[in-house]
Amino acid sequence: MIKFEKAYSIIMESSYLLDTEEVDLEFALGRVLASDVLSDMHMPPFDKSAMDGYACKEADLRNELEVIEIIPAGYLPQKKIEKNQCSKIMTGAMLPDGADCVIMVEHTEIISENKIRYTRLSPEVSVCQVDTKINLNICYCGEDIKTGDLVLPKGTFIKPQHIAILASVGCVNPKVYRRPKIAVIPTGSELVEPHKKPSPTQIRNSNGAQLMAQIARVGAEGTYIGIAADTDDDTLRKIMQAVDNHDIIILSGGVSMGDYDLVPKILEQAGFQLFIESVAVQPGKPLVFGTKEKKFVFGMPGNPVSSFVQFELMTKPLIYRLMGFDYKPLSIKMPLHADYTRRKAQRMSWLPVRITPEGTVKPVEYHGSAHINAYSVADGIIAIPVGVQTLKKGELVDVRQI
Ligand code: AMP
Ligand code: MG
Repeated sequence: MIKFEKAYSIIMESSYLLDTEEVDLEFALGRVLASDVLSDMHMPPFDKSAMDGYACKEADLRNELEVIEIIPAGYLPQKKIEKNQCSKIMTGAMLPDGADCVIMVEHTEIISENKIRYTRLSPEVSVCQVDTKINLNICYCGEDIKTGDLVLPKGTFIKPQHIAILASVGCVNPKVYRRPKIAVIPTGSELVEPHKKPSPTQIRNSNGAQLMAQIARVGAEGTYIGIAADTDDDTLRKIMQAVDNHDIIILSGGVSMGDYDLVPKILEQAGFQLFIESVAVQPGKPLVFGTKEKKFVFGMPGNPVSSFVQFELMTKPLIYRLMGFDYKPLSIKMPLHADYTRRKAQRMSWLPVRITPEGTVKPVEYHGSAHINAYSVADGIIAIPVGVQTLKKGELVDVRQI
C-alpha cells in the first residue's frame, strides 16, 4: 500500500501533452490553449465615447453649446468640434476631432432646437455646484490592449470570458490540445444497465453513467464500452476492444481481494504495466493505475463513492494535464462546525461535507463507500491526513469543491 501523495505523483509524472489541433471558436469552450494569443489591434481601436451624451471641449462647459452633428455607433464623424460646439454622441461611437470630453445626456438640458447646456456647472456661480472634477467619459485608443499584446497565454483553460477575448482579437481558430479519448468499462456479473429492473441478485450499474458524466464535465471524450462480466475472457475482450482507440481506459470493480476480482491480472495480460495496486486512502484503497506505451488505465474500486472520489482526486488531474492545463483543485479554508472523530487513522480519508449558512463545514451523514446518496447533498470533500484521528470544532479545513 502506497501513500496517497506518492500515488498522485506516480500518476502525474507519467503524463505528457497530447498533440494539438485548431478548433472553431464555437467549439473552443473547455479546451486548453496550445499557443499564446496576441491582439491583432488596439483596444479600443479608436477614442470612443463611454456614454450617451455630447462630445465637446471641456473649456466650454460653462457656455451654451451648438449641436453640429449626431454621431451613432459605427459612424465616422464628419465635423470637427470648434469653440462652443458639440456633437450628440452615442456610447461606443468614435469621438469627433476637436472634442476632449463627453458630457452625459442626463447632465444636460436642451435650450433651443440646436442648443444645449451642461447643467452640472452653473453659469451664474463661479464655483462648481456639484463636482470640480469632470469625468471625461472617453475610452482612449489602446488603453485596454495594444496591438501585439499577449491577451491569453498558452495553457489557458477556455471559459466563456476567454471566448469573448478570442473573438475580440479575431482568433476564430484557436490552437488547442486534443481532448483525451476515454473508454469506460464497468465490471461485475451482478450488474445490469440502469433501464433494467435488477433481479434479486443483481444491482444497477451506476458507475458507468457516473464516470461518463465525470468525463463529460472535464471536457474529455468518453466512450461507453459496456459491462464486462467477471470472467477472464469478457474482461480481456472489452479491454482489447478499447485499447487501440483510447488514451485512457477506466474500469470499475474487480480490483479487490475477491475470487472474481480479475482486473489487475487481465490488465497485465493485455500488456499494461501496473504501478499502483493499493493506496492508503479511504475511500478507494484498491485503486489500480498502469500504462501501456502512451495509454493509461485506471481500475476504480466498484463502490460508487470510491469510483467518484478517485476520479476527482486522481483521474481528473491527469486528464487536465494531458489537455495542457495545469489544474489546481479549488479549495477554500473553512472552520469545522463540530468536533469530528474517526476510529482508525492509518489511511488518508476523504469526507463529504456541506457548507452551512453560517460559513462552517459539516460532514454529511455517510455510511461508507456504497452510500452515493450522501454525495447528493455534499458541497465538497475534506481530507483527514494519515495519523489524524480527531478534528476540533473551529479548526480550519480545506474544502475541495466537487
Ligand atoms: P468490486 O470492487 O467489484 O468488489 O465491487 C464493490 C462493490 O461495488 C460491490 O458491492 C459491487 O456490487 C458494487 N459495484 C461494482 N460495480 C458497480 C457499478 N458499476 N455500479 C454500482 N455498483 C457497483
Ligand atoms: Mg465486482
